[in-house]
Amino acid sequence: MLTKEILETVREAIRHPFSSYGCYPVYTVLADGTFLCRTCARENYRQISESTRHDCNDGWKAIGADVLWETEDEEYCGHCNKIIESAYGIVEKVNPSKKDHSNKTFAQFVEESLDV
Ligand SMILES: [Zn+2]
Repeated sequence: MLTKEILETVREAIRHPFSSYGCYPVYTVLADGTFLCRTCARENYRQISESTRHDCNDGWKAIGADVLWETEDEEYCGHCNKIIESAYGIVEKVNPSKKDHSNKTFAQFVEESLDV
């Protein structure tokens, strides 16, 4: 993605923190893979913009904004440690000893949870 597009995505996430489909929370994603809550993204937008434009690896470089679809562990904001809400919540790690879960794909799991 072009730097300009990345920053547009970040600004969009600050202005409209929920995805247009499904209304899931959208967060800024930094180069090191950490998520940034909306408050931190807004308050530090200047820094994010600078670091992203100058390709500076100081921890503020953004790679875009996205929904945290699923997570195996609690995810926290890389700056203030506020919890980052995931769209599907915490997905249990697949435990091979649990026969009933081990053969299901994530899509099947979602379908069943949604009772489709
Ligand atoms: Zn934060």
